[in-house]
Amino acid sequence: MLKNKTAFITGASRGLGKAIAIAMAKNGANIAFAYASNQSAALETCEEIRSFGVEAEAFLCDVTDFSQTGEVVKQAISRFGKIDILVNNAGITKDGLIFSMKEQDFDKVIDTNLKGAFHMIKHFCGPFMKQRQGTIINISSVSGLMGNPGQANYSAAKAGLIGLTKTVAKEFASRGITCNAIAPGFIETDMTAKLSEKTKEAAIEAIPLKRMGKPEDIANIAVFLASDQANYITGETIKVDGGLYV
Ligand code: NAP
Repeated sequence: MLKNKTAFITGASRGLGKAIAIAMAKNGANIAFAYASNQSAALETCEEIRSFGVEAEAFLCDVTDFSQTGEVVKQAISRFGKIDILVNNAGITKDGLIFSMKEQDFDKVIDTNLKGAFHMIKHFCGPFMKQRQGTIINISSVSGLMGNPGQANYSAAKAGLIGLTKTVAKEFASRGITCNAIAPGFIETDMTAKLSEKTKEAAIEAIPLKRMGKPEDIANIAVFLASDQANYITGETIKVDGGLYV
């Protein structure tokens, strides 16, 4: 489905980003990806991606840093010739109720989860407009749609990503660029592994399908949105949450 395409994915050393990278590679795409610090996980992911017969390159890159992201986008384009798909997946949590949430923890989550995506879109929009083609996928969250106590920073960032998605869709549609978001519910990754058993049990109880999702559940939708089969979809947010937010 993605033969002769190259994807750039932020935060693909682990979790959902890694699953998206592997699913896209299985469908024939070359993969460039960014990671924050975990070099051994990044190198392992690179090897795994290459085992599907495609090219892969990992870039150490903090998405909160505007100039660093600009440099890495240039390097990735020069390494692969052209990038067709951008997946803004890198994200963190720093949960706490507003009463006790530190200002720095609010800023850090907004800077990573929302501004990081803006940085990447800003650096890729020129090349995408020039080639009159590009697909952008932003990984939001159902927290951004429904709110979640203890996640003021995270839900604000994820709601912001949905607004950003709609604006990018409208600004760039005439240039052949589409932009959509995926809003996962509770998915099994390192991010949710650190939640208490009590929190996980309560979450599963609230999910109509009565289980957490797998990273592949998100990756399959990302492959579809990146493919030509989805080329009349833009500005949309697709929930993949087992019915959590119906
Ligand atoms: P994860 O397992 O914690 O992985 C996070 C990834 O993001 C890692 O590759 C990490 O790199 C990278 N990263 C973190 N900060 C970064 C930065 N400043 N610059 C570049 N890369 C950075 O998280 P996940 O569960 O896969 O989540 C992926 C995305 O899905 C996030 O945006 C998250 O908010 C969203 N999401 C997840 C769930 C869920 O249930 N898991 C639900 C809804 C939405 P290192 O390996 O180098 O640290």
